[in-house]
Amino acid sequence: MAGAIPTVTLDQEINPWEAQSARFEFAARKLNLEAGLWKMLSTPTREVIVHFPVTMDSGQIDMFTGFRVQHSIARGPCKGGIRYSPEVTLDEVRALASWMTWKCAVVNIPFGGAKGGVICDPKKMSQGELERMTRRYTSEIIDFIGPEKDVPAPDMNTNEQTMAWIMDTYSMHMGHTVTSVVTGKPLNIGGSRGRVEATGRGVRVVCDESLRYLNMPIDGCRVVIQGFGNVGSNAARLMMEHGYKIVGVSELEGGLANPNGIDIHQLIEFKQRNGTIQGFRGAEATPSEELMVSECEILIPAATENMITSRNAGEIKARIVVEGANGPTTAVADEILAEKRIFIVPDILANAGGVTASYFEWVQDRQGYFWKEAIVNEQLETILRDSFDDVVRYAEAHNVNNRIAAYMLAIDRVAFTIKQRGIYA
Ligand code: NAD
Repeated sequence: MAGAIPTVTLDQEINPWEAQSARFEFAARKLNLEAGLWKMLSTPTREVIVHFPVTMDSGQIDMFTGFRVQHSIARGPCKGGIRYSPEVTLDEVRALASWMTWKCAVVNIPFGGAKGGVICDPKKMSQGELERMTRRYTSEIIDFIGPEKDVPAPDMNTNEQTMAWIMDTYSMHMGHTVTSVVTGKPLNIGGSRGRVEATGRGVRVVCDESLRYLNMPIDGCRVVIQGFGNVGSNAARLMMEHGYKIVGVSELEGGLANPNGIDIHQLIEFKQRNGTIQGFRGAEATPSEELMVSECEILIPAATENMITSRNAGEIKARIVVEGANGPTTAVADEILAEKRIFIVPDILANAGGVTASYFEWVQDRQGYFWKEAIVNEQLETILRDSFDDVVRYAEAHNVNNRIAAYMLAIDRVAFTIKQRGIYA
């Protein structure tokens, strides 16, 4: 990709929409994508912005702003998480919605991409406030979501409980229970076994496949994981159980390192008891930024966007980067990693285990028949392994890196479907 991406300012570099667009354009050019399809796929289908009131515990009314962006419905209903954060922007939600289209196409499941978000600080809100905000946000976007239209899921700072509230609010409006309107629900109201750890499991599978592809052993493979939330902690546990040595993990507040390997079972227990990994005795406190550039075979950014930028990419020592988070590497950093010949498993493949299990949940809800956990895990592993294979073969055939290969494969699949359906224009 060297030379293909124009020089940009740091602000542009860390704008997720710019990052998404840079990769899309590069891949679309390589594919010789027709101009009309190019225009269609570089623009989201629908962007909903809502401003709505919530009664706070003090009795006062506060106004909140929420988004739901639907990028494409070519291959099926939209699918994508909802995040709560003070940093949510329309550009971020747009980028995440597009990434969902490409992700669903890479793993070949019948969904288009969407994403939602509400600008709020969930850490400063009570459960009651979060519930009222979630219900009102749901009612504001209710005409645009549904099992055949757009199926939300959890993302940063939203969880099973949030999905239960959305499902209940939607069901109250419909007059009957509609479990398949969201995924990532609690088990007893239509959730799927294996969903909670699915993204981490997918990360483990693509790590196994990367090592196999590069002819490297799992035994003694040192791993650093940034982020110890849903994705990071589940990936860490499953990988340790599989023979990897987790030598570093970090959270926003700081990280931990142990060259002999951190006992992840103990660390998870510690975090459950204390709400943080800080103070864990089985490893040494180490800043997150230091861990990112420390010696290891696999680096897994599993926190948030823009963690690998032009500022630190040159210092990264890992042989393999597996993107558990969405958009952790900027387009400029990509070029630096490519020059260093670091093998990248891009986000739209590496973290697709979550949406794959969500697809299984949606199928189970619609069937009213629930699968054993072993079936969910086995099917998920097969899909991730096949998709990894598709991407690396595509990269070899077109002489591009894995990220561009994943985009090309995805764009090709979506464009093909649009052509088959015909354009109602
Ligand atoms: P989470 O909120 O459960 O965890 C995020 C973790 O990242 C926390 O441990 C937090 O402390 C840490 N973190 C945040 N900023 C950091 C920083 N600067 N340095 C070090 N650590 C930092 O979120 P999650 O569900 O695990 O999602 C993580 C990423 O994976 C996001 O990009 C999300 O969009 C993506 N993702 C999640 C899923 C899923 O199923 N949860 C699926 C696909 C993609």
